[in-house]
Amino acid sequence: MGKIFVIGIGPGDKDTMTEGAVSALEASDVIVGYRTYIDLVRDRFPGKDLLESSMRSETERCRKCIELAKEGMTVALICSGDAGVYGMASPMLEIGAAEGFHDIEIIPGVTAALSGAALLGAPVGHDFCTISLSDLLTPWEVIEERLRCAAKGDFCIVLYNPSSNKRSGHLEKACKILLSVLPGDRPCGYVKNIGRNGCEKGLSTLSELAGINADMATTVFIGNSSSFIRNERLITPRGYKYNNKTMNPGGEIS
Ligand code: SAH
Repeated sequence: MGKIFVIGIGPGDKDTMTEGAVSALEASDVIVGYRTYIDLVRDRFPGKDLLESSMRSETERCRKCIELAKEGMTVALICSGDAGVYGMASPMLEIGAAEGFHDIEIIPGVTAALSGAALLGAPVGHDFCTISLSDLLTPWEVIEERLRCAAKGDFCIVLYNPSSNKRSGHLEKACKILLSVLPGDRPCGYVKNIGRNGCEKGLSTLSELAGINADMATTVFIGNSSSFIRNERLITPRGYKYNNKTMNPGGEIS
């Protein structure tokens, strides 16, 4: 009997792939995943069988992994970022449990909220939450309620899946809801294609955020009430004092 690794490969570049992910990929006979992710690892791990699958067949992908592991193979099921954040870790464990296959190991990775935050500065320096705008598996009303609650709770908010070909307009709708609670000048940022070709980032206010042209490789950041932009960095303070003074939301020390 083989085993299954569910591996978060990080955002895309080799520097942010963990050593644990590299070791698990090296130990595997076959790499299974969505085409884009296979393309990100194919040159680095030559000699592996590669099994590309389309985005929609996630449960089939898990069943296929079990089938291959039962044949004695060590299987790497890969996803971008972290495997447990809107990734394959939970479906793989659910299906493994249903089918009585338990030799599954989850290898963590650097999720887009963290790799994107580093590019923008320090936007998630205090309590934050992530909300996916994909309503493929979550009713839109639930997403709306979570947006409202996160805004009322003064969390920094990281939006995953802000848009896709089938889901244009979700970021605009989300911004409208956030603007019903938060001020229009709330500092925000976004990062596209982290660690990949075409990497791009920007800063904006919440009123401008709907216009950023987000796609499915974009992660969006909304600051909390203390966040500010200074030297083109989005910073959410932890509350430290500097020479007995606090840095105020405008970024001035007073
Ligand atoms: N497991 C992934 C998330 C998968 S959901 C992780 O932990 O990062 C897909 C969403 O993740 C995308 O719509 C985008 O919002 C974000 N994302 C994943 N990889 C990204 C990248 N390289 N650059 C920017 N955003 C990314």
